[in-house]
Amino acid sequence: MQFLQESLVELITQTSTNLPPDVRQAMGLAIGAENPGTQSAQALSIIASNIDMAVEDTGPICQDTGMPTFVVHTPVGVNQIELKKAIRAAVAEATRRGKLRPNSVDSLTGKNSGDNLGVETPVIHFEQWEQDDIEVKLILKGGGCENKNIQYSVPCELDHLGRADRNLEGVRKCILHAVWQAQGQGCAPGALGVCIGSDRAHGYDLAKNELFRTLDDVNPVPELAKLEAEIMEEANRIGVGAMGFGGKVSLIGCKITAANRLPASYFVSVAYDCWAYRRLGVRLDTASGAIIGWLYRDPSRPVEKMAKSEGFPLTGREVMLRAPLTEEAVRALKVGDVVLISGDVYTGRDAVHAYLMKNPPPVDLHGAILYHCGPVMLKQGDVWTVKAAGPTTSSREEPYQSDIIRKYGVRAVIGKGGMGKKTLAALKDAGAVYLNGIGGAAQYYARSIEKVLDVNLIEFGIPEAMWHLQVNNFMAIVTVDAHGNSLHADVEQETGAKLQKLVVSS
Ligand code: SF4
Repeated sequence: MQFLQESLVELITQTSTNLPPDVRQAMGLAIGAENPGTQSAQALSIIASNIDMAVEDTGPICQDTGMPTFVVHTPVGVNQIELKKAIRAAVAEATRRGKLRPNSVDSLTGKNSGDNLGVETPVIHFEQWEQDDIEVKLILKGGGCENKNIQYSVPCELDHLGRADRNLEGVRKCILHAVWQAQGQGCAPGALGVCIGSDRAHGYDLAKNELFRTLDDVNPVPELAKLEAEIMEEANRIGVGAMGFGGKVSLIGCKITAANRLPASYFVSVAYDCWAYRRLGVRLDTASGAIIGWLYRDPSRPVEKMAKSEGFPLTGREVMLRAPLTEEAVRALKVGDVVLISGDVYTGRDAVHAYLMKNPPPVDLHGAILYHCGPVMLKQGDVWTVKAAGPTTSSREEPYQSDIIRKYGVRAVIGKGGMGKKTLAALKDAGAVYLNGIGGAAQYYARSIEKVLDVNLIEFGIPEAMWHLQVNNFMAIVTVDAHGNSLHADVEQETGAKLQKLVVSS
Protein backbone atom coordinates (compact mmCIF):
# COMPACT_ATOMS: atom_id res chain seq x y z
CA MET A 1 0.00 0.00 0.00
CA GLN A 2 2.45 2.63 -1.22
CA PHE A 3 0.05 5.59 -0.83
CA LEU A 4 -1.32 4.66 2.58
CA GLN A 5 0.76 6.92 4.81
CA GLU A 6 0.42 9.99 2.62
CA SER A 7 -3.36 9.41 2.37
CA LEU A 8 -3.55 9.37 6.15
CA VAL A 9 -1.43 12.53 6.44
CA GLU A 10 -3.87 14.19 4.03
CA LEU A 11 -6.83 13.04 6.14
CA ILE A 12 -5.23 14.52 9.28
CA THR A 13 -4.31 17.76 7.49
CA GLN A 14 -7.77 18.28 6.05
CA THR A 15 -9.48 17.41 9.35
CA SER A 16 -7.32 19.88 11.26
CA THR A 17 -7.62 22.75 8.78
CA ASN A 18 -10.94 22.58 6.92
CA LEU A 19 -14.29 22.17 8.68
CA PRO A 20 -16.77 19.78 7.01
CA PRO A 21 -19.77 21.25 5.12
CA ASP A 22 -22.42 20.27 7.69
CA VAL A 23 -20.52 22.10 10.45
CA ARG A 24 -19.99 25.11 8.18
CA GLN A 25 -23.70 25.16 7.43
CA ALA A 26 -24.62 25.00 11.12
CA MET A 27 -22.14 27.76 11.95
CA GLY A 28 -23.53 29.86 9.06
CA LEU A 29 -27.02 29.54 10.60
CA ALA A 30 -25.60 30.45 14.03
CA ILE A 31 -23.96 33.57 12.62
CA GLY A 32 -27.20 34.58 10.89
CA ALA A 33 -29.28 34.04 14.03
CA GLU A 34 -27.22 36.19 16.41
CA ASN A 35 -28.14 39.81 17.07
CA PRO A 36 -25.67 42.06 15.25
CA GLY A 37 -23.41 44.19 17.43
CA THR A 38 -23.53 41.87 20.45
CA GLN A 39 -20.41 40.31 21.94
CA SER A 40 -21.59 36.91 20.71
CA ALA A 41 -21.99 38.27 17.18
CA GLN A 42 -18.46 39.72 17.36
CA ALA A 43 -17.13 36.37 18.52
CA LEU A 44 -18.91 34.54 15.69
CA SER A 45 -17.58 37.00 13.15
CA ILE A 46 -14.00 36.30 14.29
CA ILE A 47 -14.70 32.56 14.24
CA ALA A 48 -15.95 32.85 10.63
CA SER A 49 -12.75 34.67 9.59
CA ASN A 50 -10.68 32.10 11.45
CA ILE A 51 -12.34 29.22 9.59
CA ASP A 52 -11.48 30.89 6.26
CA MET A 53 -7.90 31.66 7.31
CA ALA A 54 -7.31 28.05 8.30
CA VAL A 55 -8.29 26.88 4.80
CA GLU A 56 -6.21 29.57 3.08
CA ASP A 57 -3.05 28.72 5.03
CA THR A 58 -3.76 25.01 5.55
CA GLY A 59 -3.19 25.81 9.23
CA PRO A 60 -4.89 24.25 12.26
CA ILE A 61 -8.35 25.79 12.85
CA CYS A 62 -7.64 25.64 16.58
CA GLN A 63 -4.24 25.24 18.24
CA ASP A 64 -5.61 22.40 20.37
CA THR A 65 -5.79 19.57 17.89
CA GLY A 66 -6.97 17.22 20.62
CA MET A 67 -6.55 13.50 21.05
CA PRO A 68 -6.53 12.12 17.47
CA THR A 69 -9.22 9.43 17.49
CA PHE A 70 -9.51 7.10 14.49
CA VAL A 71 -12.34 4.70 13.72
CA VAL A 72 -11.23 2.22 11.06
CA HIS A 73 -13.30 -0.33 9.14
CA THR A 74 -11.39 -2.97 7.22
CA PRO A 75 -12.37 -5.89 4.99
CA VAL A 76 -11.51 -9.32 6.36
CA GLY A 77 -7.85 -10.07 5.59
CA VAL A 78 -6.44 -6.54 5.79
CA ASN A 79 -3.42 -6.40 8.09
CA GLN A 80 -4.50 -4.16 10.97
CA ILE A 81 -1.02 -4.21 12.50
CA GLU A 82 0.40 -2.55 9.36
CA LEU A 83 -2.49 -0.11 9.28
CA LYS A 84 -1.85 0.88 12.88
CA LYS A 85 1.83 1.47 12.11
CA ALA A 86 0.87 3.68 9.14
CA ILE A 87 -1.57 5.71 11.26
CA ARG A 88 1.10 6.30 13.92
CA ALA A 89 3.66 7.31 11.29
CA ALA A 90 1.13 9.67 9.69
CA VAL A 91 0.32 11.28 13.06
CA ALA A 92 4.03 11.90 13.71
CA GLU A 93 4.51 13.34 10.21
CA ALA A 94 1.45 15.63 10.48
CA THR A 95 2.85 16.87 13.82
CA ARG A 96 6.22 17.55 12.20
CA ARG A 97 4.44 19.57 9.47
CA GLY A 98 2.62 21.70 12.10
CA LYS A 99 -0.86 20.33 11.35
CA LEU A 100 -1.16 18.80 14.82
CA ARG A 101 0.12 20.29 18.07
CA PRO A 102 2.38 17.98 20.08
CA ASN A 103 -0.28 16.95 22.57
CA SER A 104 0.79 13.62 24.02
CA VAL A 105 2.04 13.92 27.60
CA ASP A 106 3.36 11.07 29.73
CA SER A 107 0.96 11.00 32.68
CA LEU A 108 3.66 9.87 35.11
CA THR A 109 6.62 12.07 34.12
CA GLY A 110 4.75 15.01 32.56
CA LYS A 111 7.03 14.80 29.50
CA ASN A 112 5.57 15.69 26.11
CA SER A 113 6.59 13.09 23.52
CA GLY A 114 6.79 15.85 20.88
CA ASP A 115 5.24 13.77 18.08
CA ASN A 116 1.77 12.90 19.39
CA LEU A 117 2.79 9.28 19.93
CA GLY A 118 2.64 7.64 23.32
CA VAL A 119 0.86 5.05 25.40
CA GLU A 120 -2.66 4.77 23.88
CA THR A 121 -2.03 7.86 21.72
CA PRO A 122 -3.42 8.17 19.12
CA VAL A 123 -6.66 6.34 19.89
CA ILE A 124 -7.50 3.77 17.20
CA HIS A 125 -10.67 1.65 17.05
CA PHE A 126 -10.75 -1.18 14.49
CA GLU A 127 -13.79 -3.00 13.16
CA GLN A 128 -14.14 -5.46 10.33
CA TRP A 129 -16.83 -5.10 7.69
CA GLU A 130 -18.04 -6.84 4.56
CA GLN A 131 -17.11 -4.12 2.08
CA ASP A 132 -14.08 -4.07 -0.21
CA ASP A 133 -12.51 -0.75 0.82
CA ILE A 134 -10.93 0.55 4.00
CA GLU A 135 -12.75 3.39 5.76
CA VAL A 136 -10.90 5.68 8.15
CA LYS A 137 -12.77 8.30 10.15
CA LEU A 138 -10.99 10.84 12.34
CA ILE A 139 -12.15 13.25 15.02
CA LEU A 140 -9.94 15.92 16.62
CA LYS A 141 -11.60 17.09 19.81
CA GLY A 142 -9.60 19.44 22.01
CA GLY A 143 -9.11 19.49 25.77
CA GLY A 144 -11.32 22.51 26.49
CA CYS A 145 -14.46 20.80 25.26
CA GLU A 146 -13.29 17.35 26.39
CA ASN A 147 -13.13 18.73 29.94
CA LYS A 148 -16.80 19.68 29.65
CA ASN A 149 -17.92 16.12 28.91
CA ILE A 150 -20.19 15.00 31.70
CA GLN A 151 -21.82 11.79 32.86
CA TYR A 152 -24.98 11.61 34.96
CA SER A 153 -26.00 8.63 37.07
CA VAL A 154 -29.77 8.95 37.14
CA PRO A 155 -31.74 9.58 39.34
CA CYS A 156 -29.88 12.71 40.39
CA GLU A 157 -30.47 16.27 41.54
CA LEU A 158 -29.45 18.99 39.09
CA ASP A 159 -28.83 22.71 39.63
CA HIS A 160 -31.88 24.73 38.55
CA LEU A 161 -33.64 21.63 37.18
CA GLY A 162 -34.47 19.54 40.22
CA ARG A 163 -34.60 15.76 40.09
CA ALA A 164 -33.83 13.87 36.90
CA ASP A 165 -35.63 10.49 36.89
CA ARG A 166 -34.98 7.33 34.88
CA ASN A 167 -37.05 8.31 31.86
CA LEU A 168 -36.75 10.54 28.78
CA GLU A 169 -37.81 13.59 30.77
CA GLY A 170 -34.88 12.92 33.14
CA VAL A 171 -32.57 12.52 30.15
CA ARG A 172 -33.79 15.83 28.74
CA LYS A 173 -32.93 17.56 32.01
CA CYS A 174 -29.44 16.03 32.03
CA ILE A 175 -28.72 17.17 28.48
CA LEU A 176 -29.93 20.72 29.14
CA HIS A 177 -27.80 20.77 32.26
CA ALA A 178 -24.79 19.65 30.20
CA VAL A 179 -25.17 22.67 27.92
CA TRP A 180 -25.59 25.02 30.88
CA GLN A 181 -22.63 23.73 32.89
CA ALA A 182 -20.29 24.12 29.91
CA GLN A 183 -21.01 27.87 29.67
CA GLY A 184 -18.24 29.29 27.45
CA GLN A 185 -15.51 26.97 28.64
CA GLY A 186 -15.97 24.45 25.84
CA CYS A 187 -16.01 27.20 23.19
CA ALA A 188 -19.73 27.45 22.56
CA PRO A 189 -21.67 27.12 20.35
CA GLY A 190 -21.09 23.43 20.87
CA ALA A 191 -22.46 20.11 19.70
CA LEU A 192 -23.41 17.14 21.83
CA GLY A 193 -23.03 13.40 21.39
CA VAL A 194 -25.19 11.63 23.97
CA CYS A 195 -25.59 8.03 25.06
CA ILE A 196 -28.50 6.91 27.21
CA GLY A 197 -27.62 3.70 29.09
CA SER A 198 -24.65 1.30 28.67
CA ASP A 199 -21.99 1.29 31.41
CA ARG A 200 -19.77 4.19 32.45
CA ALA A 201 -16.84 3.49 30.13
CA HIS A 202 -18.71 2.36 27.02
CA GLY A 203 -21.36 5.05 27.49
CA TYR A 204 -18.72 7.73 26.91
CA ASP A 205 -17.41 5.85 23.85
CA LEU A 206 -20.89 5.66 22.36
CA ALA A 207 -21.55 9.32 23.14
CA LYS A 208 -18.36 10.37 21.33
CA ASN A 209 -19.26 8.08 18.46
CA GLU A 210 -22.49 10.08 17.93
CA LEU A 211 -20.26 13.00 16.92
CA PHE A 212 -19.51 11.05 13.73
CA ARG A 213 -23.10 11.62 12.61
CA THR A 214 -23.73 14.62 10.37
CA LEU A 215 -25.37 17.58 12.07
CA ASP A 216 -28.26 17.67 9.61
CA ASP A 217 -29.25 13.99 9.74
CA VAL A 218 -32.44 12.75 11.43
CA ASN A 219 -32.31 10.08 14.10
CA PRO A 220 -34.00 6.88 12.82
CA VAL A 221 -35.52 6.26 16.29
CA PRO A 222 -38.60 8.53 16.47
CA GLU A 223 -38.42 9.19 20.25
CA LEU A 224 -34.76 10.18 19.95
CA ALA A 225 -35.39 12.32 16.85
CA LYS A 226 -38.04 14.18 18.85
CA LEU A 227 -35.73 14.61 21.84
CA GLU A 228 -32.88 15.88 19.65
CA ALA A 229 -35.18 18.51 18.09
CA GLU A 230 -36.51 19.58 21.51
CA ILE A 231 -33.02 19.93 22.93
CA MET A 232 -31.88 22.05 19.99
CA GLU A 233 -34.81 24.38 20.47
CA GLU A 234 -34.64 24.58 24.27
CA ALA A 235 -30.86 24.75 24.69
CA ASN A 236 -30.78 27.73 22.37
CA ARG A 237 -33.30 29.49 24.60
CA ILE A 238 -31.05 29.28 27.68
CA GLY A 239 -28.87 32.10 26.36
CA VAL A 240 -25.27 30.93 26.95
CA GLY A 241 -24.27 32.22 23.50
CA ALA A 242 -20.96 32.10 21.66
CA MET A 243 -18.02 31.87 24.11
CA GLY A 244 -20.52 32.14 26.98
CA PHE A 245 -20.94 35.87 26.29
CA GLY A 246 -24.74 35.49 26.40
CA GLY A 247 -26.65 35.17 23.14
CA LYS A 248 -29.03 33.24 20.98
CA VAL A 249 -26.92 30.29 19.83
CA SER A 250 -25.47 27.87 22.36
CA LEU A 251 -25.76 24.61 20.43
CA ILE A 252 -25.27 23.64 16.78
CA GLY A 253 -26.09 19.94 17.12
CA CYS A 254 -27.42 17.24 19.42
CA LYS A 255 -27.10 13.55 18.51
CA ILE A 256 -28.45 10.88 20.84
CA THR A 257 -28.20 7.12 20.93
CA ALA A 258 -29.54 4.58 23.44
CA ALA A 259 -27.86 1.35 24.52
CA ASN A 260 -28.98 -1.38 26.87
CA ARG A 261 -27.97 -0.99 30.50
CA LEU A 262 -27.69 -2.97 33.70
CA PRO A 263 -30.86 -2.94 35.81
CA ALA A 264 -28.99 -1.09 38.58
CA SER A 265 -27.43 1.60 36.36
CA TYR A 266 -28.86 4.42 34.29
CA PHE A 267 -26.16 6.66 32.84
CA VAL A 268 -26.55 9.64 30.57
CA SER A 269 -23.13 10.27 29.02
CA VAL A 270 -22.52 13.52 27.18
CA ALA A 271 -19.59 14.26 24.86
CA TYR A 272 -19.40 18.04 24.40
CA ASP A 273 -17.68 19.22 21.21
CA CYS A 274 -16.86 22.84 20.44
CA TRP A 275 -17.65 24.91 17.34
CA ALA A 276 -14.27 23.74 15.96
CA TYR A 277 -15.95 20.42 15.26
CA ARG A 278 -13.24 18.67 13.28
CA ARG A 279 -14.13 15.29 11.84
CA LEU A 280 -13.68 13.82 8.42
CA GLY A 281 -13.15 10.45 6.83
CA VAL A 282 -11.77 8.75 3.75
CA ARG A 283 -12.30 5.58 1.75
CA LEU A 284 -8.99 3.94 0.84
CA ASP A 285 -8.15 1.48 -1.90
CA THR A 286 -7.19 -1.79 -0.22
CA ALA A 287 -4.37 -2.52 -2.68
CA SER A 288 -2.66 0.89 -2.90
CA GLY A 289 -3.91 2.84 0.15
CA ALA A 290 -4.87 5.74 -2.18
CA ILE A 291 -7.86 7.92 -1.30
CA ILE A 292 -10.84 6.93 -3.44
CA GLY A 293 -13.42 9.12 -1.72
CA TRP A 294 -14.07 11.53 1.15
CA LEU A 295 -16.75 11.18 3.81
CA TYR A 296 -18.80 14.17 5.01
CA ARG A 297 -17.80 16.15 1.94
CA ASP A 298 -19.77 16.81 -1.21
CA PRO A 299 -17.23 16.84 -4.06
CA SER A 300 -19.62 18.87 -6.20
CA ARG A 301 -19.75 21.63 -3.59
CA PRO A 302 -16.73 23.94 -3.39
CA VAL A 303 -15.57 25.22 0.01
CA GLU A 304 -17.56 28.39 0.63
CA LYS A 305 -16.19 31.38 2.56
CA MET A 306 -17.71 31.84 6.01
CA ALA A 307 -16.84 35.48 6.72
CA LYS A 308 -19.07 38.17 5.24
CA SER A 309 -16.27 40.75 5.38
CA GLU A 310 -12.53 40.80 5.95
CA GLY A 311 -11.32 40.80 9.57
CA PHE A 312 -13.03 42.06 12.68
CA PRO A 313 -15.65 44.82 12.27
CA LEU A 314 -14.31 47.78 14.30
CA THR A 315 -16.80 50.17 15.89
CA GLY A 316 -14.38 52.93 16.89
CA ARG A 317 -15.15 52.27 20.57
CA GLU A 318 -12.30 49.81 21.03
CA VAL A 319 -9.74 50.61 23.73
CA MET A 320 -6.12 50.55 22.61
CA LEU A 321 -3.79 48.97 25.17
CA ARG A 322 0.00 48.89 25.03
CA ALA A 323 1.94 46.51 27.28
CA PRO A 324 3.36 46.87 29.89
CA LEU A 325 0.14 48.18 31.43
CA THR A 326 -0.28 50.74 34.19
CA GLU A 327 -2.73 50.28 37.04
CA GLU A 328 -4.51 53.45 35.91
CA ALA A 329 -5.12 52.10 32.39
CA VAL A 330 -6.39 48.82 33.78
CA ARG A 331 -8.72 50.36 36.37
CA ALA A 332 -10.29 52.44 33.60
CA LEU A 333 -11.52 49.30 31.84
CA LYS A 334 -14.99 47.88 32.46
CA VAL A 335 -16.78 44.66 31.58
CA GLY A 336 -17.84 44.65 27.92
CA ASP A 337 -15.00 46.85 26.64
CA VAL A 338 -13.31 45.54 23.52
CA VAL A 339 -9.55 46.03 23.68
CA LEU A 340 -6.87 45.94 21.00
CA ILE A 341 -3.53 45.03 22.55
CA SER A 342 -0.10 45.86 21.18
CA GLY A 343 3.32 45.15 22.67
CA ASP A 344 4.70 42.21 24.62
CA VAL A 345 2.65 39.25 25.82
CA TYR A 346 3.86 36.12 27.66
CA THR A 347 2.14 32.77 27.33
CA GLY A 348 1.67 30.58 30.37
CA ARG A 349 -0.60 27.68 31.09
CA ASP A 350 -0.67 24.72 33.47
CA ALA A 351 3.06 23.93 33.75
CA VAL A 352 4.15 27.59 33.87
CA HIS A 353 1.59 28.42 36.57
CA ALA A 354 2.66 25.47 38.71
CA TYR A 355 6.32 26.50 38.20
CA LEU A 356 5.70 30.12 39.21
CA MET A 357 4.18 29.02 42.50
CA LYS A 358 7.59 27.74 43.59
CA ASN A 359 10.08 29.65 41.44
CA PRO A 360 10.61 33.27 40.39
CA PRO A 361 9.52 34.07 36.82
CA PRO A 362 12.22 33.95 34.14
CA VAL A 363 11.04 37.41 32.96
CA ASP A 364 9.79 40.56 34.72
CA LEU A 365 6.01 40.27 34.94
CA HIS A 366 5.30 43.73 36.42
CA GLY A 367 2.61 45.31 34.25
CA ALA A 368 2.72 42.25 32.02
CA ILE A 369 -0.03 40.51 30.08
CA LEU A 370 -0.15 36.75 30.63
CA TYR A 371 -1.79 34.77 27.85
CA HIS A 372 -3.33 31.37 28.63
CA CYS A 373 -2.28 29.78 25.37
CA GLY A 374 -0.51 26.63 24.21
CA PRO A 375 0.45 27.53 20.64
CA VAL A 376 1.46 25.41 17.68
CA MET A 377 5.04 26.49 16.83
CA LEU A 378 7.45 25.44 14.11
CA LYS A 379 11.19 26.07 14.18
CA GLN A 380 12.64 26.95 10.80
CA GLY A 381 16.41 27.30 11.19
CA ASP A 382 16.80 29.34 14.39
CA VAL A 383 13.48 31.14 13.99
CA TRP A 384 10.24 30.11 15.64
CA THR A 385 7.02 30.67 13.68
CA VAL A 386 3.55 30.73 15.21
CA LYS A 387 1.23 28.37 13.34
CA ALA A 388 -1.83 28.64 15.64
CA ALA A 389 -2.32 30.51 18.91
CA GLY A 390 -5.82 30.87 20.38
CA PRO A 391 -6.66 31.04 24.10
CA THR A 392 -6.98 27.97 26.31
CA THR A 393 -9.51 27.41 29.12
CA SER A 394 -8.52 29.63 32.04
CA SER A 395 -10.34 27.87 34.87
CA ARG A 396 -7.51 25.31 35.06
CA GLU A 397 -5.26 28.08 36.39
CA GLU A 398 -7.70 29.10 39.13
CA PRO A 399 -5.68 27.43 41.93
CA TYR A 400 -2.60 29.52 41.00
CA GLN A 401 -3.73 32.71 39.31
CA SER A 402 -4.49 34.93 42.29
CA ASP A 403 -1.06 34.27 43.87
CA ILE A 404 0.71 34.97 40.59
CA ILE A 405 -1.15 38.23 40.04
CA ARG A 406 -0.46 39.45 43.57
CA LYS A 407 3.14 38.26 43.76
CA TYR A 408 4.51 39.30 40.38
CA GLY A 409 2.38 42.34 39.41
CA VAL A 410 0.64 40.86 36.35
CA ARG A 411 -1.88 43.44 35.08
CA ALA A 412 -3.92 41.41 32.61
CA VAL A 413 -4.69 37.79 31.92
CA ILE A 414 -6.01 36.69 28.54
CA GLY A 415 -7.83 33.37 28.29
CA LYS A 416 -11.26 31.97 27.70
CA GLY A 417 -14.25 30.91 29.76
CA GLY A 418 -13.59 33.09 32.82
CA MET A 419 -12.09 32.33 36.23
CA GLY A 420 -13.27 31.77 39.78
CA LYS A 421 -13.81 33.83 42.89
CA LYS A 422 -10.19 33.84 44.12
CA THR A 423 -8.96 35.35 40.86
CA LEU A 424 -11.84 37.83 40.83
CA ALA A 425 -10.75 39.07 44.27
CA ALA A 426 -7.09 39.31 43.23
CA LEU A 427 -7.98 41.30 40.10
CA LYS A 428 -9.91 43.76 42.23
CA ASP A 429 -7.30 44.10 44.97
CA ALA A 430 -4.27 44.33 42.70
CA GLY A 431 -5.80 46.32 39.84
CA ALA A 432 -5.78 43.79 37.03
CA VAL A 433 -8.28 42.52 34.43
CA TYR A 434 -9.32 39.30 32.77
CA LEU A 435 -9.64 39.50 29.01
CA ASN A 436 -11.57 36.87 27.09
CA GLY A 437 -10.12 35.95 23.71
CA ILE A 438 -12.21 34.07 21.17
CA GLY A 439 -11.65 30.38 21.85
CA GLY A 440 -10.45 28.37 18.91
CA ALA A 441 -9.63 31.45 16.79
CA ALA A 442 -6.09 30.19 16.47
CA GLN A 443 -5.38 31.43 12.95
CA TYR A 444 -6.91 34.82 13.62
CA TYR A 445 -4.71 35.31 16.68
CA ALA A 446 -1.61 33.88 15.00
CA ARG A 447 -1.92 36.79 12.55
CA SER A 448 -1.97 39.27 15.45
CA ILE A 449 1.45 38.01 16.54
CA GLU A 450 4.18 39.94 14.78
CA LYS A 451 7.19 38.18 16.23
CA VAL A 452 8.35 35.48 18.61
CA LEU A 453 10.85 37.38 20.77
CA ASP A 454 12.01 34.56 23.02
CA VAL A 455 11.03 31.36 24.76
CA ASN A 456 11.58 30.27 28.37
CA LEU A 457 10.89 26.95 30.07
CA ILE A 458 10.93 25.13 26.72
CA GLU A 459 11.69 21.96 28.70
CA PHE A 460 7.94 21.83 29.46
CA GLY A 461 7.27 21.17 25.76
CA ILE A 462 5.97 23.53 23.06
CA PRO A 463 2.40 24.06 24.32
CA GLU A 464 3.48 24.51 27.95
CA ALA A 465 6.57 26.70 27.45
CA MET A 466 6.56 30.43 28.22
CA TRP A 467 6.60 32.19 24.86
CA HIS A 468 7.50 35.88 24.67
CA LEU A 469 5.44 37.33 21.83
CA GLN A 470 5.14 40.73 20.21
CA VAL A 471 1.50 41.35 19.26
CA ASN A 472 -0.30 44.03 17.30
CA ASN A 473 -4.02 44.84 17.63
CA PHE A 474 -4.73 41.61 19.47
CA MET A 475 -8.50 41.68 20.12
CA ALA A 476 -10.11 40.61 23.38
CA ILE A 477 -13.13 41.50 25.50
CA VAL A 478 -12.97 42.58 29.15
CA THR A 479 -15.11 40.00 30.92
CA VAL A 480 -13.83 40.51 34.49
CA ASP A 481 -12.78 44.02 35.44
CA ALA A 482 -10.80 45.47 38.34
CA HIS A 483 -14.00 46.50 40.14
CA GLY A 484 -15.38 43.05 40.90
CA ASN A 485 -17.70 42.76 37.86
CA SER A 486 -17.81 39.52 35.90
CA LEU A 487 -19.70 38.86 32.68
CA HIS A 488 -19.26 35.12 33.32
CA ALA A 489 -20.97 35.27 36.72
CA ASP A 490 -23.81 37.36 35.26
CA VAL A 491 -24.40 34.98 32.33
CA GLU A 492 -24.24 31.91 34.57
CA GLN A 493 -26.88 33.40 36.84
CA GLU A 494 -29.17 34.57 34.02
CA THR A 495 -28.95 31.28 32.13
CA GLY A 496 -29.60 29.34 35.35
CA ALA A 497 -32.82 31.26 35.82
CA LYS A 498 -33.87 30.52 32.23
CA LEU A 499 -33.06 26.84 32.71
CA GLN A 500 -35.37 26.75 35.70
CA LYS A 501 -38.18 28.37 33.71
CA LEU A 502 -37.85 25.72 30.99
CA VAL A 503 -38.73 22.99 33.48
CA VAL A 504 -41.51 24.94 35.13
CA SER A 505 -43.15 25.70 31.76
CA SER A 506 -42.89 22.13 30.39
S1 SF4 B 1 -12.19 25.57 19.93
FE1 SF4 B 1 -11.92 25.78 22.15
S2 SF4 B 1 -12.65 23.86 23.06
FE2 SF4 B 1 -12.38 23.55 20.86
S3 SF4 B 1 -10.37 22.64 20.73
FE3 SF4 B 1 -10.14 24.84 20.43
S4 SF4 B 1 -9.71 25.71 22.45
FE4 SF4 B 1 -10.48 23.63 22.75
